[in-house]
Amino acid sequence: MASRHDAIVLGGGFAGLSAAVALAEKGAKVLVLDKKPHLGGRAYSFSEGGLDVDNGQHLFMGCYLATRRFLETIGTENRLDVYEDVVVDYAEPGGRRDRLSCPSWLPAPLHLAAGLLGLKGVSLGEKTALLAFDRSLKSMKSGPVPDAVEKLTVRQWLTGLGISRNFQTRFFDPAAIGILNDAPEIASAAGFVQALRTMFFSGGKEASRFALAKTGLSELYTDAARDYVEKRGGKVISNAKAAALIEEGGRVVGIKTDMDSRFDAGAVISTLPAWDLKKLALPAALRGPWETLKPAPIVGATLKLDKAVMSERFLGMLNTETHWVFNKSMIHGLKESGQTLAVVISGAHKQIGYSPEKILDAAKRDLSSCIPEFASATVLASKVVKEPFATLSPVPGDEAKRPEPGTGMPGFMFAGDWTRTGFPATIESACVSGQAVAVRL
Ligand SMILES: Cc1cc2nc3c(=O)[nH]c(=O)nc-3n(C[C@H](O)[C@H](O)[C@H](O)COP(=O)(O)OP(=O)(O)OC[C@H]3O[C@@H](n4cnc5c(N)ncnc54)[C@H](O)[C@@H]3O)c2cc1C
Repeated sequence: MASRHDAIVLGGGFAGLSAAVALAEKGAKVLVLDKKPHLGGRAYSFSEGGLDVDNGQHLFMGCYLATRRFLETIGTENRLDVYEDVVVDYAEPGGRRDRLSCPSWLPAPLHLAAGLLGLKGVSLGEKTALLAFDRSLKSMKSGPVPDAVEKLTVRQWLTGLGISRNFQTRFFDPAAIGILNDAPEIASAAGFVQALRTMFFSGGKEASRFALAKTGLSELYTDAARDYVEKRGGKVISNAKAAALIEEGGRVVGIKTDMDSRFDAGAVISTLPAWDLKKLALPAALRGPWETLKPAPIVGATLKLDKAVMSERFLGMLNTETHWVFNKSMIHGLKESGQTLAVVISGAHKQIGYSPEKILDAAKRDLSSCIPEFASATVLASKVVKEPFATLSPVPGDEAKRPEPGTGMPGFMFAGDWTRTGFPATIESACVSGQAVAVRL
């Protein structure tokens, strides 16, 4: 006998849990199924060998409104630190430093303009191109990013605006690769425009603030979301892999797992990444160009050192293989001897094939060259995590392939970070999609 629910949510990451919470808030009895033994999808944490590790450092932004609403609903928004200051420090081999510091007394986006004008490694002549950048961004303040821009890579768009390669390397490239998880030569300008305009032209200064979890990622949301759903009559089941959608009379009425269990519901919401969803037995009506969307990898390493080597919260590393280093001791407020760092390589198409030792060597080499104190530190413990399917690779022409959240067919809705939410495939996109489908039910 099949069990029946108001809605089945496939996937227990940010999108699935935010959909389930929003539905439970409306009084729906929801069933969440995830194939893994733990919740959290592509944003989770674990402990190993004395280290608390996130599967990859995740940066949130003040403009992550749907994410913050989700965390507020489940009662964990206070586990996210939203920093007042908008400051980014950069280090490069040889120890040279630069700083983007956006004055808090200026309104947005003037605070960014002042921050950019203060960069030491970019000449005044190069900075005049900011006028063209500002004009271009303002012309796309809302609505879909024009096709002509979506078809350009980040590199082509910025170069076309007259922004020098040096300026791109020192500010735009680290931002673009962090947001889009692919190189400026690969990623479409669309996602960059979507992110920048939200950060700097919406919601005042709050929107451009950085935010980081004070706890491990799982602790930030997974248990609290599960409790919220289950206390309202829903159920969350792990180790349950969906294998097929069941269609009757042109309507999706439930799902079958790979163990042949059947679950029926008034609606099925999929938050599975495109590359996982396409492996299911699906009604022909759901097949489409979205199946050709491709992932981009991220690799990262957490390192426990015997001594403190950095005083910043995080550092962008320029002209290195490793892109960012985060001071986990400071971010998590750890009272420990030494220091724990997390490094990130985004768009890691090459490094995903490296052994953990080789990734660690690259991280140590870059840290030693950018942070002189690192050279005399001892690495007491380390953990490398490779995420081959980290995010959507946002190549030009792919925006139109992303189905809108909530579309699909009778009884079925697409959701997930990769759906067309108006954001690059991020946590915010995941939560926007989850809350969008809940509104439609
Ligand atoms: C290393 C790394 C760093 C990142 N950094 C950032 C960052 O700094 N800022 C940011 O905003 N975003 C970042 N992201 C992206 C962010 O993690 C994702 O956008 C977000 O977690 C996606 O959530 P989701 O719920 O849409 O998908 P997922 O988290 O992938 O959830 C989908 C779930 O579906 C499950 N599933 C798959 N197939 C099946 C099946 N057949 N049956 C049942 N369940 C199934 C999976 O197990 C998974 O739990 C990063 C991602 C990674 C990997």
